[in-house]
Amino acid sequence: MAGSLRVGVLALQGDVREHLRVLQSLGADAVRVRRAEDLEEVDGLVLPGGESSVIDKLARSFGVADPIRAAIRSGLPVYGTCAGLILLADRIEGGIVGQQTFGGLDVTVRRNAFGGQVESFETALSVPILGERPVDASFIRAPLVVRSGPGVEVLATLADGGVVAVRQGAVLGTAFHPEVTGERRFHELFLAMMATAGRTRRSRPVAPR
Ligand code: GLN
Repeated sequence: MAGSLRVGVLALQGDVREHLRVLQSLGADAVRVRRAEDLEEVDGLVLPGGESSVIDKLARSFGVADPIRAAIRSGLPVYGTCAGLILLADRIEGGIVGQQTFGGLDVTVRRNAFGGQVESFETALSVPILGERPVDASFIRAPLVVRSGPGVEVLATLADGGVVAVRQGAVLGTAFHPEVTGERRFHELFLAMMATAGRTRRSRPVAPR
């Protein structure tokens, strides 16, 4: 099933290879997306971890920011990890001057929310939608969802209640990086979301390869 869907990974900066590896290991046809034309060829898009302000700037200078924004609005399934979650937030706190996002999630995300000495940590996170086994979640200068609108489903919280995984329609976001710890269930969930959305999206024209 996953093999018939093509998933793109936005490949401007960040841990692109790690996402491609996880997606390919799940049988998905995973490709790099850099330009607006690439976007036409995919049924879903992953926004990697990295540096959100850099990805934002590069996306605008590559002319792919507005097309991504429009694609999300029209229902393209998107999954963002860490910096990718920041890029999906309708509102951010702690962005650099002029930093923009693609939006799509009715949330406010705080950048570098775990600042100081505990900038990076790993924790076993309970994610009920993925089953009983906890997710080995790696937080690297991670953001936090500090407010979310009524249409947003909270998928995981830290022990202190901090929201670190959310979904709204076909948009999925995690503050941590499942792709660096060998965790595949979030990508599996995302491919399932793509399969569901694929039934209603107009079919992608077959491109010569
Ligand atoms: N702190 C980074 C940012 O603001 C995110 C870090 C990450 O993706 N690991 O984009």
